[in-house]
Amino acid sequence: MSSLSPFAALGLPHAIVSAIEQCGYTEPTPVQRETIPAVLAGEDLLVSSQTGSGKTAAFALPLLARLVAPRRDPASRGARVLVLTPTRELAQQVEKAFRTYGRGLRRLKTVTLVGGMPFGPQRRDLTGFVDVIVATPGRLKDHLNSRTLTLAGVEALVLDEADRMLDMGFIDEIREIAAQTPENRQTLLFSATLDGVVGQLAQTLTRSPKRIEIARTPEVAPKISERVLYFDNEGHKAQILTHLLTHEEIDQAVIFTATKRSAEALAERLLQEGVRAAALHGDMAQRARSRVVERLRRGEVQVLVATDVAARGLDVAGISHVINFDPPKQYEDYVHRIGRTGRAGRTGVAITLAHPNEGRLIQGIGRFVGRTLPEVVIAGLEPRFRRSAARPASPRGDGSAGRRTAPSRSLRWEEAQPRWEEPRQSRWEGRHRWAEEGADERNRTRQPGKRPILSLKK
Ligand code: AMP
Repeated sequence: MSSLSPFAALGLPHAIVSAIEQCGYTEPTPVQRETIPAVLAGEDLLVSSQTGSGKTAAFALPLLARLVAPRRDPASRGARVLVLTPTRELAQQVEKAFRTYGRGLRRLKTVTLVGGMPFGPQRRDLTGFVDVIVATPGRLKDHLNSRTLTLAGVEALVLDEADRMLDMGFIDEIREIAAQTPENRQTLLFSATLDGVVGQLAQTLTRSPKRIEIARTPEVAPKISERVLYFDNEGHKAQILTHLLTHEEIDQAVIFTATKRSAEALAERLLQEGVRAAALHGDMAQRARSRVVERLRRGEVQVLVATDVAARGLDVAGISHVINFDPPKQYEDYVHRIGRTGRAGRTGVAITLAHPNEGRLIQGIGRFVGRTLPEVVIAGLEPRFRRSAARPASPRGDGSAGRRTAPSRSLRWEEAQPRWEEPRQSRWEGRHRWAEEGADERNRTRQPGKRPILSLKK
C-alpha cells in the first residue's frame, strides 16, 4: 500500500498532487504547509513570506483545487480566480505556475493581462469561459474601464507581493478592482511585510483573516553564498566586475544596477567586451522584455543587466550569480535580488559591490536579513581605503583612512568559496531532498559545465 503523499495529506485532490509530483516536489515548504489547508477551508489570509519560499504554489495549488468543484455562480463565464501582481514578469510566471500545477485539470483556461501588450489578443482571450486571470492592476483596470471583462464571478482574489504593488502606487487600482468582485469572495494577501499601509489595506479587503508569518531569514540563506566587495572608484569597480566575469564559474548572471540608464550602458559595455549581455528595465516595451527573458531562459543571454522592478519574479534556473553592481537602496530589494539565483534547488552566489560610503547600507541589509554579509577582497584588487563605517568602535581620525590595506576582517576571495558538499542544516528539509534528487536532472538538461564567461584578452 503506498503511503499518502504529503501534498495529498494537506487535502489536495489527486489531479493536482500528480502534477506536483511531476515537478519533483517531495515535501511542502513551510508556507505551503500552513497556507494550503487554510485556503482549502475557505479562509481569508494575510501571509508574510519571502520570494523563493514557494508562495506561488502555496496559493495556486489550493485555488486550483477549488476549480475542480463547480462554479459558485453557474451563470457566470468570467474568471473564478483573480491574481494581482506588481510586475508583468511576475504575472507571467504566476500564470505559468497555474498551468503547470493545473495540467491535470480538464479545460483549465488561464489568461494574463499585463501592460505593454496589445489589447486585441487579451480581449480575445477573455471570450468564453475563463478560470484564472493573472494581471497587473493598471492593465486590469483598463479592461474594466473598456468593459471587456466583468469580475462578478470571482470566487478568490489574490494580492501577490502586495507591499510592492503599494510601493508602485497601485493602491487606488487595487481598491477599485476589489470593489468590483463579489463581497463573499475569498481574499489572500501575500507580502514581505504585513505592517503599515499593507496592514491597513488588508483590513479593508479581508474578513477575519488568519495571519501566517513565515520567519524571515529565508531558506535561500544556506543555498546562496553571499559576499561584499568594496571598491574605491568607478574604474576600480569596473576592474572588479571584469575580474568576476573572467574568474568566476558563471552559468548565467543577473547584474543589478540602480538606474535604467546605467543598465543600458553596462549591457552595452559588456557586449563590446564580448559578453552575451542584454538589458532589462521598465522603459522597454513588454514585447522586448519578454524576448530578453526568453533568450535568458534559452541560455542565449548569459548576463542580464537589470533594474529591480524588471527583474522581480524572474525565475530562471540557470542563474548561478547575482551581482549587485549598485547595492539596493531598500533592504528588502536585496532579498528579492539574490533570490534570482539558487532557483529550482540549485546553489548560487550573490556578490554586492559597494563604495566605502555605502558601508552603513550594507550593515543595514545584514541586520535586515539577520546575517553578516561576508566582506571579501580579490588579491591585487584590494580597496585602497579602509571603511570607517565598518569600525564602529574605532575613534575618528585614527590615521587609518587612506592606508593601502584592506579591512582586517575581510576574507581573501578563495577563503570565501562555498563548500556545498557540506550542506548546513536547513529548516526547509523538503527542498534539500528535492534539490538532491531533482536538480541534477535540471542541471543535465540545461547548462553545460560552468566556466568563466569572459576570456581575458591577450
Ligand atoms: P516562489 O517562492 O513561488 O517564487 O517559488 C520558488 C521556487 O521554489 C520555484 O522555482 C518553485 O518551482 C519552487 N518550489 C515551490 N514549491 C516547492 C516545493 N514544495 N519543493 C521544492 N521546490 C518548490
